[in-house]
Amino acid sequence: MTPTSAQLDAQWMPFTANRAFKRAPRLLARAKGMYYTDVNGNQILDGTAGLWCVNAGHGRESITEAIAASARDLDYAPGFQLGHPAAFELADRLATLLPGDIDRVFFTNSGSESADTALKIALAYHQANGEPRRVRLVGRQRGYHGVGFGGISVGGIENNRKAYAAQALPAVDHIRHTHDIARNAFSRGQPAAGAEFADDLRRVIAEHGADTIAAVIVEPMAGSTGVLIPPVGYLERLREICDQHGILLIFDEVITGFGRVGAAFASDKVGVLPDILTMAKGFTNGAAPMGAVGVRRKVYDTIVDAAPGGIELFHGYTYSGHPLACAAGLATLKLYETEGLFERAASLSSYWEDAVHALRDVPGVIDVRNWGLVAGIELEPRPGAPGAFGFETFTRCFDRGLLVRVTGDIIALSPPLIVEKEQIDQMVDGLGKVIAEVAT
Ligand code: PLP
Repeated sequence: MTPTSAQLDAQWMPFTANRAFKRAPRLLARAKGMYYTDVNGNQILDGTAGLWCVNAGHGRESITEAIAASARDLDYAPGFQLGHPAAFELADRLATLLPGDIDRVFFTNSGSESADTALKIALAYHQANGEPRRVRLVGRQRGYHGVGFGGISVGGIENNRKAYAAQALPAVDHIRHTHDIARNAFSRGQPAAGAEFADDLRRVIAEHGADTIAAVIVEPMAGSTGVLIPPVGYLERLREICDQHGILLIFDEVITGFGRVGAAFASDKVGVLPDILTMAKGFTNGAAPMGAVGVRRKVYDTIVDAAPGGIELFHGYTYSGHPLACAAGLATLKLYETEGLFERAASLSSYWEDAVHALRDVPGVIDVRNWGLVAGIELEPRPGAPGAFGFETFTRCFDRGLLVRVTGDIIALSPPLIVEKEQIDQMVDGLGKVIAEVAT
């Protein structure tokens, strides 16, 4: 049933223009496969896997059943000084999927919690390793690491920080972002130019001394700020510089994890192993809130072995490893494997690439970029009204039955990995028509 206006007023919506939304709400009622259905019965093709999370498509029975069974058997189990088998089974299963020797897993409930957990682990690691001076954290412009105080501090989105900046983390720097339309517009896959952007880390090292820097955190591909794909050689160079200076490298794979870029993780795709890797979203196919932080064995061993006894890491959440989320996670990982969805994303990616690049000649489009099953379509901002072109495109697409994601004037597409070729055509065709209309 459609909420009353009093009910609409009662919810303070996240990252939403509340006043405008409540005048013209977009309300979803059901979801199955590639489609949402809104409260008026309209079907909406999901071009964004919800919010980058429903990688196996909506309404998957095996996940629903696993959650229901868990709710019946064990609704909740404390995770402090107690455990339950599914949490250990899931950590073990995830450890086999994670790259390299990242085989210790800490559970959270979201990407934001994963980012803050990763930053804390990095600080704790250097303390345990006898280098307590290493406290500085380095993020990147246009990075998004959620909304905790740690995440907004290392994140590079001004709007997310400005009201809270007075209390943001103090010892933080940002290296430059990797977006370079002048050289890389209409790149297919990883752009060729820009590995040298990683050298900006040397500037921060020169300014503060490597022995004060705990960690660098980046998304392998910045998703939320508009699909900024890493230039060829960039992540490799970041790894190299971190290795030279004893700095931990954290990859925030909240979006890129679980098949999105055509491999289990972006780390696998580029062959660069971080020390700490954060996850959420696709971990449970969006069906239950859950995140995780994977760490290399040396990180876990250093912290745990240095503790005199008792609790080794003073950190955790009431819902870390929640039974329902663990059930959802186990069922999701099984689906990814049995349906070969990461491989499917890889094999569809060249069709996807050709399809989205057909948008390059649509009026108003200044860049198209793609990686795995992600695409970014950048629009020419209207003079004096940044974001207007993008937002109008988003609302008009929704009204026509297509869900896209918008960040400023950049449209992001990231469909569930079960997407069919005809649905890709439908998405691109629908989006192209709307952009052309809005542009004129
Ligand atoms: N990190 C990255 C890279 C993200 O893209 C997001 C969300 O989009 C987050 C962290 C925050 O995740 P959550 O909204 O689950 O807290």
